[in-house]
Amino acid sequence: MIFRQLFEPVTCTYTYLIGCPRTNEAALIDPVLEEMETYAKLLSELGLRLVRVLDTHVHADHVTAADALRQRYGAKTALGLGASVACADVMVREGDTLPVGDLRIEVRATPGHTDSCTSYVLEDRVFTGDALLIGGCGRTDFQQGDAGRLFDSIQRQIFSLPPDTLVYPGHDYQGNTVSTVKQERVKNARLGGGRSREEFIELMSKLNLPYPKFIDQALPANQACGRAPVPIQG
Ligand code: FE
Repeated sequence: MIFRQLFEPVTCTYTYLIGCPRTNEAALIDPVLEEMETYAKLLSELGLRLVRVLDTHVHADHVTAADALRQRYGAKTALGLGASVACADVMVREGDTLPVGDLRIEVRATPGHTDSCTSYVLEDRVFTGDALLIGGCGRTDFQQGDAGRLFDSIQRQIFSLPPDTLVYPGHDYQGNTVSTVKQERVKNARLGGGRSREEFIELMSKLNLPYPKFIDQALPANQACGRAPVPIQG
């Protein structure tokens, strides 16, 4: 497998490039609009053909490059079926498999941070978006967030994976790059060490987080998969 982890520093977003070495087909997970040229350069350097763009959810902190990449490369975009918008080419659901050359990406529904949150499992790794972060998890106070739902998603869909599964999150604000299911089960500050569902809900309700910085710009754009708004005529 061809694999690259890319970092967008303004919103501390991780984007992942995966590729099939035999067919040169590739996919990007959670690309950021401002980083388009980085992706174009990397795809061309590696001789890869972008066939898919997967978003883990409707992001509130950055604008997705999904539509720009679709326009430029003809890649098919994917988003979880739970989203209240249906802007992607493929609205994925639990149990779907997305081929990228010889690679097979397994879809797992992990709602709770938002209703569209989806994790993607590929061989020895899982891309968790903002459901499970290294040492933490996504907030649950916006975008149909629900702490109990997030707890169930993480327990059933992520913590049930083999302990050595690599966890690649959608963000990290401390410079961590990768974790494992085992590490998060033991050490995660919000869910680790056997914290109960009730304790987790209580903790999430008391976080008092500030209003998300870019939500008013990012959310409307991402509800159209990052498509530029059509100018009003006349
Ligand atoms: Fe998010």
